[in-house]
Amino acid sequence: MSKILIVEDEVSIAELEKDYLELSGFDVLIEVTGDAGLRTALKEEIDLIILDLMLPNVDGFEVCKKVREVKNIPIILVSAKKEDIDKIRGLGLGADDYITKPFSPSELVARVKAHLARYDRLVGSGMKKNEIIEIRGIKIDKTARRVYINGEEKTFTTKEFDLLTFLAENPNHVFTKEELFNKIWDMESVGDIATVTVHIKKIREKIEFNTSKPQYIETIWGVGYRFKV
Ligand code: CA
Repeated sequence: MSKILIVEDEVSIAELEKDYLELSGFDVLIEVTGDAGLRTALKEEIDLIILDLMLPNVDGFEVCKKVREVKNIPIILVSAKKEDIDKIRGLGLGADDYITKPFSPSELVARVKAHLARYDRLVGSGMKKNEIIEIRGIKIDKTARRVYINGEEKTFTTKEFDLLTFLAENPNHVFTKEELFNKIWDMESVGDIATVTVHIKKIREKIEFNTSKPQYIETIWGVGYRFKV
C-alpha cells in the first residue's frame, strides 16, 4: 500500500484530502507544520508528498528543496495563490506537480495515482534503487557512498564512511577497537587501535548534536563502541 504524506496547516483541508485518499486505498499521514512535515518526510518511508506552500515555521518551498536533496519521490505542491505557480517554476524546486486551491479532492486523487504510476515505471525500469540505511535522522546511501544528517549532506572520508556504515549495519552490538580496526583497516594498514578512536571522534563531530552526549555511537567504557538504535 502506498503511503502518502500530507503537509497542510488547514486541518479541515488535510482531513478532507485524507478521507478521499484513504477511500482509494492509500495509507495517509498528516503533518500541520513545515518542520514536522520535513522530519516525517525524511524519516518515514513515504511514497508521495502533498505539500502546502504556506506553512508555519518552515514553508513548503524549503521543505520541497530539502526533501528533493535526499528523495526522488513525487511531490505535489498545493498553493492558494495562482501567482505562486510562476515562482514554483522559476525556483526549479523539483516538484512534480502543483495544484491551486480550491481543488476537487477527486482531482487530487487522480493526480496522486498518475504520479505514483509514473514513478513506479521509472523505478521499475532499470532505475535501480540505492541501498540505503536510515536511522533516526541519519541516512547512509551505500550505493552512492553519501551521508545525510537530517537531510543535510556531510562529507566523510573513506574510512569514516566504512566505519559508520559498519556500526550502523550492526546496531546495538558492542565492538572492541581491535575488532573495528581489523574489520575496517586491512592488515597492511599503518596504524593501531588509536586510529579507531580518532575516526570515531571525527564521525561524531559530523553526526552528533552534542559530541559529549552522543546519541548514536556510544562509548562502552573499557570495551569499545556501539551504534545505539
Ligand atoms: Ca497553508
